[in-house]
Amino acid sequence: MIKKNMYINGEWVPAENGTTRTIINPFNQEPIAEVAEGDETDTQAAIHAARSAFDQGKWRHTPAMERGKLVLKIAELIERDQRELAELETLDSGKTLTESLDDMKDIAEVFRYYGGLADKDGGEMIESPIPESKSKVVREPVGVCGQITPWNYPLLQASWKLAPALAAGNTLIIKPSEITPLTTIKVMELIEEAGVPKGVANLVLGSGPKTGQLLAESHSVDLISFTGGIETGRKIMTAASGNFKKIALELGGKNPNVVFDDADFDTAVDQALNGIFFHAGQVCSAGARLLVQESIHDEFIEALVERTKQINLGNGFNDSTQSGPLISKEHRDKVENYVQVGLQEGAKLVAGGKRPETKELQDGFFFEPTIFTECETSMRIVQEETFGPLLTVERFSTEEQAVELANDSKYGLAGAVWTTDIRKAERVAGELRMGTVWINDFHPYFAQAPWGGYKASGIGRELGKQGLEEYTEVKHVYENTNPSPLHWF
Ligand code: NAD
Repeated sequence: MIKKNMYINGEWVPAENGTTRTIINPFNQEPIAEVAEGDETDTQAAIHAARSAFDQGKWRHTPAMERGKLVLKIAELIERDQRELAELETLDSGKTLTESLDDMKDIAEVFRYYGGLADKDGGEMIESPIPESKSKVVREPVGVCGQITPWNYPLLQASWKLAPALAAGNTLIIKPSEITPLTTIKVMELIEEAGVPKGVANLVLGSGPKTGQLLAESHSVDLISFTGGIETGRKIMTAASGNFKKIALELGGKNPNVVFDDADFDTAVDQALNGIFFHAGQVCSAGARLLVQESIHDEFIEALVERTKQINLGNGFNDSTQSGPLISKEHRDKVENYVQVGLQEGAKLVAGGKRPETKELQDGFFFEPTIFTECETSMRIVQEETFGPLLTVERFSTEEQAVELANDSKYGLAGAVWTTDIRKAERVAGELRMGTVWINDFHPYFAQAPWGGYKASGIGRELGKQGLEEYTEVKHVYENTNPSPLHWF
């Protein structure tokens, strides 16, 4: 069994009070690791280490090019160990190994992108309106960053935070989800191997209330970056107000996938399936709300249901598996409960809605890919994030109605539009109130483009240039080149 500790001030340490947590494989509930379970004392030690490394250490004065090289080195080490990392991710999260291997490639690219970007912003000279003066604007690291990540893309979400924070010269404390810490622990080993100075990157393990909450509250932390659910996000925002630290929140979504009758039918069906059922729907940008134009509705649903029934659930390590289990018992209970909600609200269940009966899947947290039709926008199953393999279908007749329905949500993370009329696609994309809109595609994201939400889907952006800027403060330096008394008084 894997046994791992926390990484604080360059040392691998157990929890101060000796507590550990058993990590299980969601495919069969077998224990896979025993890891330190930290609390406020350990978190305080990590904050102290990061504070000292920022205030007294050399890191923030290290030339940006040198920091960039270290981040590039981490990318190389991730690539070197991608197989081991992917296997850990599949063990810990249940997702297929193919998906995990793809994640690791993306993660290496995220480090590579920010490694390359580290020294590209040399500041800006401003044309000062005052004679005999110079004015420049520079970006500096924010300071000590607290970073809290969820279980659905454990290392991917961590990479979006670790790489830009390091490239920009910050020190950090990362706290992964307590149920999926293994790949973040492994990458911290790689960060150590790459030679990042002690105290710069720290790792605490433990529950949200006992570790993450203190990162959000502490006045010694200058920025909190959080990815997770909306209710936790609210707590973090409140806790962060104590010292007005900078906040970056990547929260949930209930993302509309809008299909017009002139779309390429087979492609739209295929991608609607992928949009919702990829990683068992445990994706913040899952296309969980399908909006289909009236004229093709019945035919579209018939094709979709037929394909849905063929999805092969199983062990993420088997080549034939298309989708793994849900992450935990609690999470499956939540998804299962939404099926009852949907039925009570009068939606029509046309696929799934229950646990699979297959014998080999009984020990895992599996749930069948589920589709509800005849949904109304006002229903809870349409408005609330289920974060599982549950698709709701609504009908629309006109372009205006499609836009109105798609925007009728407290969330604004992502959405897609399917049509061969590109002018219509661009009009609709322009009207959708979301951080990402895909035209004739679903799910692509990459290091070079920003990611984040409108409305209750969050604050700030990760990835892209913006993802680095989040980890900087902007300073204006003004210099009077010919100082003389004012004689005002
Ligand atoms: P969660 O909010 O339960 O937990 C996320 C993290 O917050 C975990 O590390 C947890 O330990 C920690 N936490 C819990 N309570 C805390 C507290 N009081 N103070 C500080 N930290 C605390 O979310 P989850 O169930 O792990 O992840 C699923 C959610 O994440 C979904 O809502 C999903 O949409 C969202 N998500 C969003 C994005 C995005 O990019 N917008 C990406 C992935 C996941």
